[in-house]
Amino acid sequence: MDRVVNFSAGPSAMPLEVLMRAQSELVDTNHAGMSVMEMSHRSKAFEDILENTKHLLKKVMNIPENYKILFLQGGASLQFSMIPLNLLQKDHEAGYIITGSWSQKALKEAKKVGQTTVIATSEGDQFGQIPDFSNITHSNNLSYVHITGNNTIEGTRFTKLPKTDAPIINDWSSGILSEEINVSDYGVIYAGAQKNLGPAGVTVVIIRDDLIGHASDTLPTMLNYETHTKADSLYHTPPTFGIYMIGLMLEWIESLGGVKEVEKRNREKASLLYEAIDQSSLFYSPVKKEDRSLMNVPFKSGNEETDRAFLHYAASKQLVELKGHRSVGGMRASLYNAMPIEHVERLCEAMREFERTIKNEKSMA
Ligand SMILES: *Cc1c(COP(=O)(O)O)cnc(C)c1O
Repeated sequence: MDRVVNFSAGPSAMPLEVLMRAQSELVDTNHAGMSVMEMSHRSKAFEDILENTKHLLKKVMNIPENYKILFLQGGASLQFSMIPLNLLQKDHEAGYIITGSWSQKALKEAKKVGQTTVIATSEGDQFGQIPDFSNITHSNNLSYVHITGNNTIEGTRFTKLPKTDAPIINDWSSGILSEEINVSDYGVIYAGAQKNLGPAGVTVVIIRDDLIGHASDTLPTMLNYETHTKADSLYHTPPTFGIYMIGLMLEWIESLGGVKEVEKRNREKASLLYEAIDQSSLFYSPVKKEDRSLMNVPFKSGNEETDRAFLHYAASKQLVELKGHRSVGGMRASLYNAMPIEHVERLCEAMREFERTIKNEKSMA
């Protein structure tokens, strides 16, 4: 088997153990005599899978009783619309903290629904940091405050939350399960699965139950959270295979010692790479130190040709998917839960070797 080291931002690498387990169960899942992909979503066999995934997520994230867990389709992008459609009340505003392209897209959708206000933005700093949001005003007129907890493209993350009475909504697509959080600090947490949870096609929504049931009667049934909470994610055919895969991922996380242990590993992985970047005289990080993401690490040489040469060099060492997002350029290494520290060490080593080669070439010239 020839697997590469995959630094993709999403869909991204999954643990080999999880893939092998899915492979071994593919044609006969849980002794049902059929694949999970062939099961009726109304069958007992599938209900057990759904319950198991939900139970594990609740346990692993320590989700309180008054929160509902939903498995929906449409990606995090559909949540950009569902959040304001369900939560933005008449004569109220939706507050947004703008920290990159994903929060800009979330705001764009909310504007189609009602009144919005930008509480803070780091656009002026090319999103290289999380902006100061200490002065939230007229918080009693806000239906919610939306943040992007981890900025997949720009490589920043929130380490503290705004002080507000309004529920905080967190697009945590690229951060979920990467570190311990207090779920009750949030009104809603949502995440597309394809970054840190499982395959593309399923979106997890964790929602406090008092926020459900306030949508307008004219809201289409499928867009109403109440539809999906009442039916326990079985109003229509849910993404069954994805739900099953998230269950396997959660079992894997439990086997490692839970999110606490995973966070410890993630911190080690990230500091290894940031140290390599900060010690390099060739590469630099465009992100302010305190706000650096544990999951997505952009870095640059400042010269496009050198960046291209490094990507080429890295690929020759089986280190792939390191090209930065087109809006940022340079490189980006995504270090989701599935990536072992050995793979990050290989990247750091490749960076040092590449730098030595460049220096030698320069001194020879
Ligand atoms: C990937 C991503 C999205 C978009 O997710 P889709 O599932 O493709 O809609 C939204 N927000 C963040 C933070 C992301 O990383």
